[in-house]
Amino acid sequence: MRIAMIGTGYVGLVSGACFADFGHQVCCVDTDTAKIDGLNAGRMPIWEPGLEALVKANADRGRLTFTTDLPGGVEGAEAVFIAVGTPARRGDGHADLSFVFQAVRELAKVVKPGTVVVTKSTVPVGTGDEIERILGEEGVTGVSVASNPEFLREGAAIADFKHPDRIVVGAEEERAREVLREIYRPLFLNRAPILFTGRRTAELTKYAANAFLAVKISFINEIANLCEAVDADVQDVARGIGLDNRIGPKFLHAGPGYGGSCFPKDTLALLQTADTAGVDQRIVRTTVAVNDDRKASMAARVAEALGGELGGKRIAVLGLAFKPNTDDMREAPSIPLIEGLLERGAEVSAFDPVAREQAERVLNGIEFAPDAYSAAADADALVIVTEWDEFRAIDLEALAKAMRGKVLVDLRNVYDREEAAEAGLAYYGVGRGRRRTTA
Ligand code: NAD
Repeated sequence: MRIAMIGTGYVGLVSGACFADFGHQVCCVDTDTAKIDGLNAGRMPIWEPGLEALVKANADRGRLTFTTDLPGGVEGAEAVFIAVGTPARRGDGHADLSFVFQAVRELAKVVKPGTVVVTKSTVPVGTGDEIERILGEEGVTGVSVASNPEFLREGAAIADFKHPDRIVVGAEEERAREVLREIYRPLFLNRAPILFTGRRTAELTKYAANAFLAVKISFINEIANLCEAVDADVQDVARGIGLDNRIGPKFLHAGPGYGGSCFPKDTLALLQTADTAGVDQRIVRTTVAVNDDRKASMAARVAEALGGELGGKRIAVLGLAFKPNTDDMREAPSIPLIEGLLERGAEVSAFDPVAREQAERVLNGIEFAPDAYSAAADADALVIVTEWDEFRAIDLEALAKAMRGKVLVDLRNVYDREEAAEAGLAYYGVGRGRRRTTA
């Protein structure tokens, strides 16, 4: 199949590279000239495990190309995917669809009858209808519009794309279903479940999935608070409930609150859809509030571990990306944490294995260290914010020696209290018994 991918970000680039790897002919289009020039020169715009090799292999085979020229990129394509960003609109939290509609208007000038236009971006219910309306307004006929929301996770994007739990295709016409069935045939042969639904249902399914995962995270974070009050261990509670098949073990890790480019904006967008429809979604609304409060409270947690005052204290922060194995800083919990530390008068030195460049764009007034040990030098407290694997293998004793104080605030429960105590550190985890402990 010939495929055009409009939008070459985390989703567009991974999807485009994987489709090319399935044997399709893919052209990735983006308005960002620097990004496309970089890709044409073999430079990845994002950090994602395995992506560089996959892109290079398929570009070398001539199956994956990159361009800023939309008309040229979509020429001859049987399917045109839209994978541009849909960030939260400032002020009301509605999904900002301006990039989607701009792409559709550009596309309308050149798209041929018989083409299937597929939204891979996460878009609110009814966006497919609106795309159809815009195409009609521009005089386009014979084009089918489908929804194929993407569920990949950054950090494991290629594996997720190639071994998805399911593929959701929302379409109103057989032609669209046929084309998407053909595109995903290699996965279908691998027994990946493909769920065909109506277009509006597919659009909503993506929001419902992300909202549900956000609820799970906020639920365990509230249980962690209760554990701290009643001297119970949230790690064991999570395991105890997660082994129940009806609940499942994933997304039950207590921590500093969820961030990233999806959950925060998608929960807000779902609430906007619900408002417009006049149907309250109390659980999601509460989840958003619980998570906002949680992220905002992390600096106070660090202050508490240091006896309440942060003025003149030096804090080392390990991990800045919103989760491990990505350089994505969008809505990362490290941002409100660090801002809160600075507001309280602390100095911050931070280290992240890959997100430094992205972090420098959004964090001001802090030092960026080249490794964890340099970050810890002379620190009064060390805070683990992102659970990169390399932090699991750190030499805690060496870290403790480099520090001035001896406080470890482990917001991801990477370490045990005993291990920390052996290194001479007072340990403050999340939801692991009473908060105050001594080394
Ligand atoms: P991104 O910001 O990384 O990439 C979007 C790209 O679209 C950018 O490179 C931008 O330059 C380009 N773009 C914008 N307008 C354009 C236009 N008119 N023509 C061509 N290119 C244009 O975003 P992302 O993280 O890849 O997310 C894309 C969509 O996928 C969003 O709706 C998001 O919610 C959804 N999604 C993201 C993830 C994820 O993990 N990042 C997972 C599932 C779904």
